[in-house]
Amino acid sequence: MILSREIDAVIFDWGNTLMVDFGLEGPMCDWPRVEAVEGAREALEALSKRYPLFVATNGGSSGAREVMAALDRVGLGGFFKAVYAQKDLGFGKPDNRFFTAICSREGLAPSRCLMVGDHIEKDVRGALAFGMQAVLFDPRESHPGFEGKRIASLRELAALV
Ligand SMILES: [Mg+2]
Repeated sequence: MILSREIDAVIFDWGNTLMVDFGLEGPMCDWPRVEAVEGAREALEALSKRYPLFVATNGGSSGAREVMAALDRVGLGGFFKAVYAQKDLGFGKPDNRFFTAICSREGLAPSRCLMVGDHIEKDVRGALAFGMQAVLFDPRESHPGFEGKRIASLRELAALV
């Protein structure tokens, strides 16, 4: 465990963290082609044996049901206990109300949650400001100066926790 504190749950961003966002119109679950992010399955297989996993997404066209349908198309849906979507809740990352909704509904302490995502402000700084732990998924090395935990492949996640 490389993280500074123990965790009870891992929360993933969806677009460009778990599944590739091709930027098409409408909900991803209806797109002609869907694709998991490289390394996602291996990471989820390893982490799901140890922690409950959640999705927290700001995806504008998809509520939890559509997100789960898209995840099912690439065989990842079964790894997740629940999906939290801005479209359903009315607010998204980095709004504290979004993180509060997840923690209160799931009975989780913020400090014992790990947020993983590719957006440095919404996913990572938002979660950190709320008191969660966070890892920046940065496959294109876009943020080499980021002061926190950063991974270039999801395969690195299991070793972090
Ligand atoms: Mg994203």
